[in-house]
Amino acid sequence: MKGEAMKFHLLIFMIFLVNLASASSSPSVIIVGAGMSGISAAKKLHDEGIKDFIILEATSWIGGRIHKTEFGGYVVEKGANWLHGAEGPLKNPMYEIAKQIKLKSFYSDFSNVSYNTYKQDGILCLGTKMVIPILVLGNSTHISPKGIKKVVTEVDYSKRGKVTIKTEDGKVYTGQAVILSPSIGVLQSDLITFKPQLPFWKRRAINEFSIGVYTKIFLKFPKKFWPTGKGTEFFYYVHERRGYYAIWQQLEMEHPGANIMFVTVTDDESKRIEAQPDEKTKAEAMKVLRKIFGDDIPDATDIMIPRWYSDRLYRGTFTNWPVGYSIEKHNNLKAPVGNVFFTGEHTHAELFGYADGAYYAGASTANEVNKLLKKKMSPSLRSLSLTSGRADGKRRPLLYLLLSLPRNEQLENPFFSNCLYLYWWM
Ligand SMILES: Cc1cc2nc3c(=O)[nH]c(=O)nc-3n(C[C@H](O)[C@H](O)[C@H](O)COP(=O)(O)OP(=O)(O)OC[C@H]3O[C@@H](n4cnc5c(N)ncnc54)[C@H](O)[C@@H]3O)c2cc1C
Repeated sequence: MKGEAMKFHLLIFMIFLVNLASASSSPSVIIVGAGMSGISAAKKLHDEGIKDFIILEATSWIGGRIHKTEFGGYVVEKGANWLHGAEGPLKNPMYEIAKQIKLKSFYSDFSNVSYNTYKQDGILCLGTKMVIPILVLGNSTHISPKGIKKVVTEVDYSKRGKVTIKTEDGKVYTGQAVILSPSIGVLQSDLITFKPQLPFWKRRAINEFSIGVYTKIFLKFPKKFWPTGKGTEFFYYVHERRGYYAIWQQLEMEHPGANIMFVTVTDDESKRIEAQPDEKTKAEAMKVLRKIFGDDIPDATDIMIPRWYSDRLYRGTFTNWPVGYSIEKHNNLKAPVGNVFFTGEHTHAELFGYADGAYYAGASTANEVNKLLKKKMSPSLRSLSLTSGRADGKRRPLLYLLLSLPRNEQLENPFFSNCLYLYWWM
């Protein structure tokens, strides 16, 4: 490992040293979540000279929705494994890092997918050729920190210039600013309580954005019974029930001889499958495979079903931009409230949903925090911290009415800014 990649890993190591060392001190910045965006924010802060930050991560791993795990004696990726945009003018920044740290990678071969499509009765359909070059990270880097397991349950931003964070284990952390990177699914849930409640414009922006569910169901077999070689990596199954065990991918390129396949299901099918026992899912999947490959095929010996939707720390896999959701609302989604900053893939207006979106979002949020710390509290941020109403929960009717305006209008409207200013000093 060389250059930037080495620095990146050293930084991650340092972050955890800082985290362990500073549990009782008062850092400048508290970052909640050590997924792609949280780590990217940490790196940016560090590069900008802000070194007294801590990361509070609920799980025992770094990476969040990028999470490799062991399955049937092999390493598989439960979350993100495609690097989109490996070529072209808008190169994925992870592509360069992947090259530097020499990740095992290859192009996914969709070229024959429409030739490899089976109808509900298992009969092969005829199709046309399609080539989609997408790079797969077959073996992502794994950094194994000590279990952090700090589940943030409360963000108190009622005091000017100070944010107090509480975790499930009863610990309290205080900083000048917090960067929240949990998924929008988490923000939509009641896992984290805000004191005072987030303003209406913010809650609306959060609640109206959308997160989907995408599940890779891994199956290992005692032997291979599917075609292998060029043009066979994927096959589709078309059922009258939309998305019923629809997209199959064999991992021969990644793990030759492992006899592992995974089938992808999404949204309602994902939720249904997450809620039922694995054995039932295995029986359903086997029925589909027997339709395609015949009754003689052996049962799967292992099955693994990631449960991203049921997991209170994710509540979904990646965001979709809902129809009718305006760019103003999205600006509100990523806008800070007082010293509470929001980041994560969902806050990137172009690359939402993707790991590279999370990477850029983290760096951009860290930039904003950096500016805040350098200037201390700017007037506009002071105003924003008031938009939730008074700390005692009582609302001023005029202010409340104005709060329903998109944030840009609030800030651009001099009358509104004056109201907020007056309110601040009352
Ligand atoms: C199955 C699947 C397949 C995907 N495929 C691809 C792909 O091929 N290509 C691609 O580019 N992207 C893909 N993605 C999307 C990509 O993984 C995400 O966009 C990206 O990893 C999100 O990073 P993030 O930092 O925004 O969020 P996260 O990775 O969710 O990071 C947030 C962190 O916050 C932590 N957290 C949550 N709540 C709390 C709390 N209360 N207290 C403390 N910590 C908390 C979480 O544990 C997590 O570590 C996929 C995702 C999934 C799940």
